[in-house]
Amino acid sequence: MPPKSDLFKVEEICGAGRGVIASRAIPSGTIVYESGPPAFHVIYSEYRKETCASCFTWNRGRTLPVRENDLNKVFCSVSCRESWMQEQGPIGVAAWEALSNFVRRNQRKVCNEIVHEGDRPSQLSIETRWREAEEQARVVSGPEEENGSTRANQGPGKAARAIIQKVTSKIYPDILSYLLSAHLFRTSHTETWIDEVRSLAMDDKPYRSQNELEAHCNSLPQLASFLAGEHSTDYLIEACEMVAKADNHNAFGLYSGTNEEEREEFMGFAVFPTASYFNHSCRPNLIKTRNGRSWRFETNREIPAGTELCITYLGGAEKELDVLQRRARLQDTWGFQCSCEKCLEEAKVHQPNLD
Ligand SMILES: [Zn+2]
Ligand SMILES: [Zn+2]
Repeated sequence: MPPKSDLFKVEEICGAGRGVIASRAIPSGTIVYESGPPAFHVIYSEYRKETCASCFTWNRGRTLPVRENDLNKVFCSVSCRESWMQEQGPIGVAAWEALSNFVRRNQRKVCNEIVHEGDRPSQLSIETRWREAEEQARVVSGPEEENGSTRANQGPGKAARAIIQKVTSKIYPDILSYLLSAHLFRTSHTETWIDEVRSLAMDDKPYRSQNELEAHCNSLPQLASFLAGEHSTDYLIEACEMVAKADNHNAFGLYSGTNEEEREEFMGFAVFPTASYFNHSCRPNLIKTRNGRSWRFETNREIPAGTELCITYLGGAEKELDVLQRRARLQDTWGFQCSCEKCLEEAKVHQPNLD
């Protein structure tokens, strides 16, 4: 479901997918939209002890006071912990604990960074590798409940144990945590998932390298191995695949500051489905500010009816780039050739003979 407001409409835009158009004149300084919480996110391991798992407040390098060591989560206050617990529910909390145990048991295999080398994997090799990972996840999770005998009381069989050993030579806690957040969202917010996540702009070649593809694909059967029987393997598979395809074009960086000028620490990233409807312009007419777990979008000038409402995907120093560098950056990260009014003006200056 696209964001709703009497200030704007979501429409198909010629050559740019969908976009948000002002349905009437909007004064400067108007908050036009406030997103909900993210559908999936990760706070990098490096920042996990210093960042509230609930409101994403960063404690400037110091460990936060309210800790749940069994879950590997910290909170800035008891009330943040309570609201997080409530949101996750007992199944979610148990899943985070299972992840935390899994990482602890495999401490020596933990990797925090992927080494990118070689070309981007093709769509075909991704599909093939995904089917293999899916098959592995199904074997590892064991038969769905049949005759009352579940994996929980049988333990993994021989085939499952062999797969688990094969796929756990390295583990990436940040990827596991990211994929788990998506799976739990898929499980607890089924309608939002179907309406919002499935309709995001997708990237069919989402991995930067073969190593990244491997790390993600091995994470799927790893998750299946430690999530207990009440988790749907179908949801897990769908969540893992969709996350990979959706985040290149839709993720927002989670920075320690709350607006585009305060980007000291890059703590992780998140996908907020409804916030993804705003397209990019190098001369944006909306400023986005993070308000805890959601984003607030405010006009920075008067906007005539019929104008597209845009944010910038670029941050801090990136705004100083010239048109060629900026376009390369946008193409590289978000997969589009920017033809905003600023780029068109500056491109003319660069290549005056073109028209
Ligand atoms: Zn908090
Ligand atoms: Zn541009």
